[in-house]
Amino acid sequence: MTKPDVYSIEPIGVLESPFKQKFAIPRQPALAKAKGKVKLLAPYNDINALRSIDTYSHLWLLFLFHENLHKGWSPTVRAPRLGGNTRTGVFATRSTFRPNGIGMSAVENLGVENTTSGLYLHVGNIDLLHNTPIIDIKPYIPYSDAVQHAHATLLDDKPVPTLAVNFTDHARRQLAQQPYEDLPLLIENCLSQDPRPAYKQSHQDDPKTYQVQLYDADIHWQVSDGAVWVTAIESLS
Ligand code: SAM
Repeated sequence: MTKPDVYSIEPIGVLESPFKQKFAIPRQPALAKAKGKVKLLAPYNDINALRSIDTYSHLWLLFLFHENLHKGWSPTVRAPRLGGNTRTGVFATRSTFRPNGIGMSAVENLGVENTTSGLYLHVGNIDLLHNTPIIDIKPYIPYSDAVQHAHATLLDDKPVPTLAVNFTDHARRQLAQQPYEDLPLLIENCLSQDPRPAYKQSHQDDPKTYQVQLYDADIHWQVSDGAVWVTAIESLS
């Protein structure tokens, strides 16, 4: 048998996202109200390439899991959503460790911005890291993409937030100094999903202080009495 052809792909854009690290990014787009923008790269930064895109409320972003590409893939993976103990085939998961490292997210179309600094497509409900290379954009077509009666037996239910999120007085004062108006909701969306490792999620009191970067803010938080307490929000810029 002859070896199959090898194809090369180049990004058509790069995503600017509030998620500066993988930790605490939701597992799928609809789980956080995170907004970002795709900066179209030359020669794809032609406004004509976006003509009529405003007629679609939602779009598919196809992208590369660029932070994991060097780690390769294996035929089976432990899906975190299944508790991390069950191994399923990589093609039966949305694992980020996969052949070719391609991901797909259905996102909200928040409009085109064409300025002297570049051509941007604003998107909402993203689950992607800052600087993710975007390899294609396609319209989400409800009659075809929203399949009636489709089922996903292992993952039929949307994950429900498991933890209430509270702020100490100190953290609340620091939050008020932050310029990002969606930061409070983003913190709540991300931390209420309990992003701790699966083996920690049964710990109602956890002495560890976790840190997660959203925009240029470093969020410090702990789990106490079965709830998240955000203890500090420090600016990194
Ligand atoms: N919706 C996409 C899909 O189904 O292909 C992504 C699902 S994947 C399970 C979502 C996770 O990918 C996020 O929680 C984040 O940790 C990780 N992630 C996001 N952007 C990434 C990137 N550029 N490189 C590596 N991992 C990334």
